[in-house]
Amino acid sequence: MRKPIIAGNWKMNKTVAEAIEFVEAVKDKLPSSDLVESVVGAPALLLNGVKYFSTGSELKVAAQNCYFEDEGAFTGETSPKSLAALGVEYVIIGHSERRDYFHETDEDINKKAHAIFRNAMLPIICCGETLEQYEANEAEAVVSRQVSAALRGLTAEQVTNAVIAYEPIWAIGTGKSATQDDAQKMCKAVRDVVAKDFGQDVADKVRVQYGGSVKPENIKEYMACPDVDGALVGGASLQADSFLALLEAVK
Ligand code: 13P
Repeated sequence: MRKPIIAGNWKMNKTVAEAIEFVEAVKDKLPSSDLVESVVGAPALLLNGVKYFSTGSELKVAAQNCYFEDEGAFTGETSPKSLAALGVEYVIIGHSERRDYFHETDEDINKKAHAIFRNAMLPIICCGETLEQYEANEAEAVVSRQVSAALRGLTAEQVTNAVIAYEPIWAIGTGKSATQDDAQKMCKAVRDVVAKDFGQDVADKVRVQYGGSVKPENIKEYMACPDVDGALVGGASLQADSFLALLEAVK
């Protein structure tokens, strides 16, 4: 049985004070982690405060990126070793905004996945096609290639514990969410790649999220899909009430 995982991705939003206010508002209202994992992906600068103020609660914390080396002369990068030392549980990697605006490649993302496991954290690996690729019926081929490349060289055990987020780029921040059928089809396609590369047993255990304009009003639709195990949520994760409503709809 795969445990649902709802992860907020705050992107480049909130000050330290706003992040702490959010944590204070949600931390005693989260569902039991026996039912659903509640995760917030905060900007690097806010992780320390979010971790500190959520101590003892059900909230898990994700970074939104990290570098693939543990330390060294890499000005401006975030060390996975430092994230692990803070108690950060997950790192989101390969988000389409990072692929697009910051030119991250499949190879970078694969190196980051290795670095995250090396530091005893878990990756939330994003994949997803552009509108042009969707319209050209290339979504499955694009996403399969991204997932296979991101997981290269990992062990079956590592992949079992990874989370993969399918986020069609045309659905991110647009209010134009994927249909239930598309979300199911693509999350199954992600699972099929894992089965091909690592075996059916691993594929049956890996958790696959849908992301792209998920809101409290539509999350149940996605969670009803057999291959959707959770959601990666941008805009609707920013307000405490809305984040709690997403979790409430899933538990
Ligand atoms: P929205 O939920 O705002 O569409 O963002 C999705 C996303 O990119 C999460 O990583």
